[in-house]
Amino acid sequence: MSSGFFKFFYILIFFLIFLVIFISCFFGPVILEDYEEFYSSIDLSVEYVWPAPGYTTITSPFGYRDLPTAGATSYHSGLDIGAPEGSKLIATCDGEITFTGFLGGGGYTITLSVENMRITYCHVSPTYIVKEGDKIKKGQVIGFVGPKNVYGVPGNQYFDENGNPTNGATTGPHLHFGVRVDGKYINPLLLFQ
Ligand SMILES: [Zn+2]
Repeated sequence: MSSGFFKFFYILIFFLIFLVIFISCFFGPVILEDYEEFYSSIDLSVEYVWPAPGYTTITSPFGYRDLPTAGATSYHSGLDIGAPEGSKLIATCDGEITFTGFLGGGGYTITLSVENMRITYCHVSPTYIVKEGDKIKKGQVIGFVGPKNVYGVPGNQYFDENGNPTNGATTGPHLHFGVRVDGKYINPLLLFQ
């Protein structure tokens, strides 16, 4: 064995140690924070119900992803659940409606709030059956999956490949389901395990 080989070997080991430290510095805290914040802040005695009854296919998970459409963020702040236009959306827990309206990339949106948690339903139907201030019971129908295209929204910056305005940053009807705890997005699947 030459000393050159050992030198190379040591450099390799140092590089691997550096790599592990580097990765854990950047990704470790993000993952840990999400879990710590979730477990210290959420009422786990509540049994949360799935927001789109009968539709369980996750077409895009929470976290980092490739861009499916221009304007969508590379960090996906919620779950995309595949469901056709008109599908019922239900309250995942008791709460209060704190927002209904068109919200940029989210398109037509409903926000259900309870204590420090904000639950958002995006790309919904503009035909709202709830309004801000409504007290909602778990399982109650609060809206419907919206269409891909919506017309007449002032300031809407989202369009499909044919130039028609879309219901936020979307390529077709689905529910984007987002959960914030103390203002920070968490993986919504944590509610259902
Ligand atoms: Zn989404």
